[in-house]
Amino acid sequence: MDLKFTPEEEAFRQEVRDFIDANLPAETREHLKLGNAPTKEMTVQWQKILNKKGWATPRWPEEWGGPGWSVTQQYIFQQENQSAPAPDPLGFGVNMVGPVIIQFGNEEQKKRFLPGIANLDDWWCQGFSEPGAGSDLAGLKTRAVRDGDHWVVNGQKTWTTLAQHADWIFALVRTDPDVKKQEGISFLLIDMKSPGVEVHPIQTMDGGHEVNSVFFTDVRVPAENMVGEVNKGWTYAKFLLGNERLGAPRVGSSMAKLEELKEIAKSRIVRGKPLWDHPRFRDKFVEAQVELKALEMTVMRVLSGIEAGADQSKPDPATSVIKIKGAQMVQRMTELYVEAAGEQAAPWLDAEGANAQVGPDWTIRAAPNYFNMRKSSIYGGSDQVQKGIISKAILGL
Ligand SMILES: Cc1cc2nc3c(=O)[nH]c(=O)nc-3n(C[C@H](O)[C@H](O)[C@H](O)COP(=O)(O)OP(=O)(O)OC[C@H]3O[C@@H](n4cnc5c(N)ncnc54)[C@H](O)[C@@H]3O)c2cc1C
Repeated sequence: MDLKFTPEEEAFRQEVRDFIDANLPAETREHLKLGNAPTKEMTVQWQKILNKKGWATPRWPEEWGGPGWSVTQQYIFQQENQSAPAPDPLGFGVNMVGPVIIQFGNEEQKKRFLPGIANLDDWWCQGFSEPGAGSDLAGLKTRAVRDGDHWVVNGQKTWTTLAQHADWIFALVRTDPDVKKQEGISFLLIDMKSPGVEVHPIQTMDGGHEVNSVFFTDVRVPAENMVGEVNKGWTYAKFLLGNERLGAPRVGSSMAKLEELKEIAKSRIVRGKPLWDHPRFRDKFVEAQVELKALEMTVMRVLSGIEAGADQSKPDPATSVIKIKGAQMVQRMTELYVEAAGEQAAPWLDAEGANAQVGPDWTIRAAPNYFNMRKSSIYGGSDQVQKGIISKAILGL
C-alpha cells in the first residue's frame, strides 16, 4: 500500500487543472467561490463541457464512455474539480442511476438512458426516502401494481433533492407487500412529466429550496422502465448507496475552503491584529487541517484497496468512517467561515436585516451555509446509522 501520488498521477493532476483553468466559465467559478450552490444552468453547461472531453463519467467503463481512469485518477479529478471550484457532474445521474443501469440494466436501457445521463440532457433525481422510510429504507410503501404493459404507481417520496429540475426519477417501489420487506422492492425509472407526478417544495432552514416531496397518483410507467428483475431492487439500491457514500467526503472542496480561509484570516483585522494571529482561531484551523489530511489518507486507503483488487460487490465498511468524517469536515468549514465573519454573519439571522450585506461578499453565505450543511450528517445515511455499521462490520460488536 503506497499512499503517495506517483509522478504520473501528479502529471495527470496538472493536466486536469490546466483543462479546468482553460474551460471553466469565469462566472461559474466566481459564483461558487462565494459559497453559492451552482445553478441548474451552470451544472448543465459544465457537465456538457466535461462530457465533450470524455470526463463527465469518471467511474464508467470505457465501453459506455468512461475515460478508463484508475480509481486514484478518479479521485484526483474529483479533488481538482471541487477545489477549482467547479460544479460536480450531477451525482444522481453519473454516480447513482448510471452505474446501476450499467451493472443491472438491459442493453436497450443502456442505449436509451446512458448518453442523456453523461451529457446531462436528462436531469435525474433520487426517489428512495419516504415519510417513515429514511434510515429504515426497506420499510418504503410507494406501491407499484402491474397493469398490462405498465406499472401503476401510487405513493409519496420525500427529501427529493432538486426534483424541481428533474426530467426523470429513479424510484424504489413496493411490488410485493406480502414477503419479507427487502424482498418485495423494485427499481423503477419514472418520467417526471408523466400525468399524476407532483413536486412540492420543502424549504430548508437556510431559506433555500433544494428538497421536495414528490407525489405519485395512478402514474402509469411502461414496464420496460424497470431495471433488472422484479423484487430485486434492494440489491441494486445497496450497490447504489455504497457508491453514494464513497463520493460524499468532498475532500477537495474542504481543502480549497481551508486555503481561502487562511487568506481571509490573514487580511481580517480582529481586535487590533489579523485573525490569523489569534491562537484560538489558528488552533481550530490547524486541527481542521490535520483531520482533513487524515480523512484524505483514509479515502486513499480504501481506494488503494480497490485498486489492489478488493471485492467491490459489498461496500467497504470504512466508507462509513469516510461518510461520518467527511460530513464533519464539511460542517467544520462552515463553522470556520462563521467564526471568520464574526458579527458580519449575523444580519442573516435577523429577520429584519435578512440578506443585508455588511461585510465582504463571502460573508453573505457564511450563516446560511452553516445552517444548510447540518444536512450532511443526515443524508446518504445518518451518522448514527453509519456508527451502527462500524460497530458491527469493523469492531465486531
Ligand atoms: C438535505 C437532504 C437531502 C436529501 N436528499 C434525498 C434525496 O435526494 N433522495 C432521497 O431518497 N432521500 C434524500 N434524503 C433523505 C435521507 O436519506 C434521510 O433523511 C436519511 O436517510 C434519514 O432518514 P429520516 O430523515 O427518515 O430520519 P429517521 O430515519 O427517522 O431518523 C431519525 C433519527 O433517528 C436516528 N436513527 C434512525 N435509525 C437508527 C438506528 N438504527 N440506530 C441509531 N439511530 C437511528 C437517525 O440517525 C436520526 O437521528 C435527503 C435528506 C436531507 C436532509
